[in-house]
Amino acid sequence: MAVPRIDFTAELNAEQQAAVQAPDGPVLVIAAAGTGKTRTLVYRVAYLVEQGNDPSRILLLTFTNRAAHEMLERARQLVGDGVSGLWGGTFHHMANRLLRRHAGAVGYQPDYTILDSDDTRRLVRLCSQELKLTDKHFPKPDVLLSVFGLAASTEQSVAALAADRFEHSRVDPGDVVAVYEAYEKRKQQLNAMDFDDLLLNGLRLLTEHDALLERYREQFVHILVDEYQDTNTVQSHWVDLLAGPGGNLLVVGDDFQSIYSWRGANYRNIITFPERYPDAHVYYLVTNYRSVPEILGMANACIAGNPLQFQKTIQPVRDPLERPHCVSLDDGHAQAEFIIGEAQRLRSEGYAYGDMVVLYRAHYHAMELQLALARDQRVPFVITSGIRFFEQSHIKDVTALLRLFANPGDELAFQRLLCLWPRLGAKTAQKCWQALGGRCDLRKDATRERLAKGLPAAAREGWNTVEMIAADFDRHELQKDPAEIIHRFMAGFYEDFARETFENSDRRLEDLAELMRYTHQFATLDAFLSEMALQTNLDAEADAAVQRETDVLRLSTIHQAKGLEWKVVFICWVTEGMFPSLRSVNESEEGLAEERRLFYVAVTRAKDALYCCVPRQRRGRDGSMQFLLPSQFLQELPSDLMTASRFRR
Ligand code: ATP
Ligand code: MG
Repeated sequence: MAVPRIDFTAELNAEQQAAVQAPDGPVLVIAAAGTGKTRTLVYRVAYLVEQGNDPSRILLLTFTNRAAHEMLERARQLVGDGVSGLWGGTFHHMANRLLRRHAGAVGYQPDYTILDSDDTRRLVRLCSQELKLTDKHFPKPDVLLSVFGLAASTEQSVAALAADRFEHSRVDPGDVVAVYEAYEKRKQQLNAMDFDDLLLNGLRLLTEHDALLERYREQFVHILVDEYQDTNTVQSHWVDLLAGPGGNLLVVGDDFQSIYSWRGANYRNIITFPERYPDAHVYYLVTNYRSVPEILGMANACIAGNPLQFQKTIQPVRDPLERPHCVSLDDGHAQAEFIIGEAQRLRSEGYAYGDMVVLYRAHYHAMELQLALARDQRVPFVITSGIRFFEQSHIKDVTALLRLFANPGDELAFQRLLCLWPRLGAKTAQKCWQALGGRCDLRKDATRERLAKGLPAAAREGWNTVEMIAADFDRHELQKDPAEIIHRFMAGFYEDFARETFENSDRRLEDLAELMRYTHQFATLDAFLSEMALQTNLDAEADAAVQRETDVLRLSTIHQAKGLEWKVVFICWVTEGMFPSLRSVNESEEGLAEERRLFYVAVTRAKDALYCCVPRQRRGRDGSMQFLLPSQFLQELPSDLMTASRFRR
């Protein structure tokens, strides 16, 4: 018998070890922040492989792609290359992987396009316009999409949700439903799915096709899920089906950290797990290995008052160090100055910039700091929120061509591509599309000829570039080389276009160079496009930046910092009206409770030092000064848990 390579007793505490070596069947690990839930999952994977399980029969579901990569990497360090072949990623990734194989089963072509949020916004706007719902009181695409999204992720009807949401407004819920129906139809015609469709259709594969359900139930002998508290109804339903009654499903989570209910996450999934799986083994982890006791004291106190939760306190193992700081400052400028100065001071004490993070409730809270950091140039930094890298217009322009090659039915890509040319607007583009019969396969000579005839003379010259790429497409196996397509497209057309169009074209061209580098890790055009559409945040850009330079200060929203840890954490704008956000306070008791959990998530990211910054005033939109109170989350705490100080410029 092979000697086990991993010394589980040395690496894990007794509870963790019990969970890692739990017998087959359903397992729930419920535990507060920093107690080793993620670590337990990694060791469980290693344990299963060591026990002789075939990695390709293990499915590991995580919240971000990066988390999946990191976990696989850690598992590989434990058991070696044995883990390759394991299925790991986000729910969206896995749904996509299955749907590419079985698209036909839900009425799609396998080369369907995945719409990102910019695409969906455009498409919804188009549908509203077509229905002549352009009154200024009619909800904007983002609002409509949030209703559609909530309906999808909670398995409710759009009609019911719309009636509820627009009850006291002049909006007719019937109109909202009409847009929704038009939107659904358009997506079918385009052979395109949005993010919610991936999950819903992924679920349909299993609910409507017994053979598929059987097949994947058999394949996935073990299913493991991290951050289970943030799954929505569709996701938990999907996992339940796949695992089957009494299946080997291990989930870990913390109801204290459920922060996605606004997107339909349902923390009841975790609370009701023991009811759905009466045989489940349940493990509680209570020892926190991450933070010093002073930080945990504050964390325990700030969450204790929340309603409806598994009460649990976390026990520290680390030695005391210092209390968290509550820093009062004049305004946002002072806050930026303080953070920059303090980061430098900490660095001179031996911390790296990479050990520190600045967290905030909403992206715009970081604007002043961002500008100050850029101006000041003393502290290198990277931002993990904001406009998504792949949703910037120059990236979308260039990839429109790739998308059209991959899916000739992609009208949005077609529109986008054509509108780049001079004298070519949406109307002409639409006419061309119709003339081509709603399909534009550029690889076909006849299509290219017909299209060229419809183009205005001014566009012909640059269009040659596209024609040449298309003519070479099959001969040079360009479908395996997206970078080459981008390169040719830029050399022949887009570089000039960018210089004429964008003020900051240099930065944009750098982004495109980065994009080409990024494509090299994919074997085919389709693989690249899927991955690109699935990036749910700045992952790629942030990773690229961090790989280039690891010692950088990170700026991130709290939502995107989930599951991660840093030695030093700064939280900005811990004031009433900013955190909790005004909207959440006005909304409901539940909204406030979720805000408090978000604060808890922020606090528990810190290992050694924590700073809550409390600016006293802020300029309003009209330029007037508003005075701010410290956040109720700070006021609720016993005063001896933090060290108060005042920073003056
Ligand atoms: P979160 O709730 O924030 O996702 P978590 O419960 O997933 O946290 P981990 O990220 O797995 O916690 O662990 C937190 C830190 O504690 C990590 O640095 C991890 O390596 C360390 N850790 C966990 N368990 C142990 C242990 N038994 N011995 C030493 N270090 C540990
Ligand atoms: Mg974790």
